[in-house]
Amino acid sequence: MRRKIFGEEHEMFRDSVRSFMQKEIQPNRDKWHEQGIVDREAFLKAGEQGLLLMWADEKYGGAGVSDFRYEQIIIEENAWYGDAGFFMTLHSRLVGPYIGQLGTEEQKARWLPKCITGEHILAVAITEPGAGSDVAGIRSRAEDKGEYFLLNGSKTYISNGILADLVIVVARTDQNSRHGLSLFVVERGMEGFERGRNLRKMGLKSQDTSELFFNNVKVPKENLLGELNRGFYQLMHFLAEERLLGAAGYLAAADVAFDITMDYIKERKAFGQTIADFQNTRFMMADMRMNIDVAQAFIDQCVDEHNHGELNADTAAKAKLFTSELECRVMDDCVQLHGGAGYMDEYPICRMYLNARVSRIYAGSSEVMREIIARSVGLDPRKKKKKAVENQASAA
Ligand SMILES: Cc1cc2nc3c(=O)[nH]c(=O)nc-3n(C[C@H](O)[C@H](O)[C@H](O)COP(=O)(O)OP(=O)(O)OC[C@H]3O[C@@H](n4cnc5c(N)ncnc54)[C@H](O)[C@@H]3O)c2cc1C
Repeated sequence: MRRKIFGEEHEMFRDSVRSFMQKEIQPNRDKWHEQGIVDREAFLKAGEQGLLLMWADEKYGGAGVSDFRYEQIIIEENAWYGDAGFFMTLHSRLVGPYIGQLGTEEQKARWLPKCITGEHILAVAITEPGAGSDVAGIRSRAEDKGEYFLLNGSKTYISNGILADLVIVVARTDQNSRHGLSLFVVERGMEGFERGRNLRKMGLKSQDTSELFFNNVKVPKENLLGELNRGFYQLMHFLAEERLLGAAGYLAAADVAFDITMDYIKERKAFGQTIADFQNTRFMMADMRMNIDVAQAFIDQCVDEHNHGELNADTAAKAKLFTSELECRVMDDCVQLHGGAGYMDEYPICRMYLNARVSRIYAGSSEVMREIIARSVGLDPRKKKKKAVENQASAA
């Protein structure tokens, strides 16, 4: 299906990103998979190519291009020719904007240039051993000690956790409010900031997902990002874009799986014919193509809305929910069509199947997405409860 959101300049950009991925990223796939982490040089090379934090102003070394389509292209080309565990988009477009949009002029000048060159790698640390979906349950705390904040707590499942030089840490700063959170930039080398294990995972083996520990870390006042105690609402502000980033990637992964499966079923024979000739196979492929194309039209529409500042939280939740569930269904069908080969690590579909499973869990689980969508159609038990309490109060 011809996609209508891209112009000639986007297509030229896609060609250059494709060459970059094919030359600098793809050849490292197996090595990074084995070592459980990508090489730092990958970020430096992406920086050299001008692919990091493209939205950042030219005065910091960025390209000043906020058009989401460029990041969408990077995400898609990384899915096709890069490496699923190379979380360059998390660095550029998920974490970077916290500094870009919440940072003071001094903070932006201090941090953005090295993030744009790839010398500094970014991560965001929200999840804790006892708080994932329920962000308001965060226990890490930062106490105001006059000249600095004293940060204590631990985080887990943090992407880019080992490589990160700057980590945006969410901590409680108001003990009396469930939403009394703030964001802090914790820098590599700060005393008391320790990294735990590079966690062993089902998939995304080349991605360094780790634990982080903060023991009496003295975070300078000038590393508070955004307004004190407003962290919860600041996090919410970025969610729509984060979910769209995810959705673009999940869908691209499904498209890649479809393509490699198409090649496989045309080659492989059983009962004197190719696997592709069985009606069951043709119907499965038809269903996959239909779903991917329909989803693509929706995602491209979301990208367009986002570029116009119109993407709302529930539309982004629909995009994330639909594409992550579709990705998992497609991977499962593609493994099935590969037969035993699909279960073998040496076939790309095997790793893709394992990589996909997390898409329904992180960046807001499928259940949380359904919750958001249900509320958007007026099914919100919290409002019902609130109304009942108000009615009781007025009756009393
Ligand atoms: C590979 C990987 C990378 C990650 N990267 C990062 C990162 O960079 N930074 C970061 O901060 N975090 C990161 N995470 C954490 C991720 O965001 C959380 O795992 C996710 O939010 C779910 O939280 P949880 O694991 O605590 O599950 P829980 O919140 O304990 O959920 C368990 C189950 O209960 C369901 N559930 C929870 N609440 C509800 C509800 N209200 N209604 C219905 N069902 C519900 C969930 O959907 C899920 O099925 C990463 C996780 C993984 C696996």
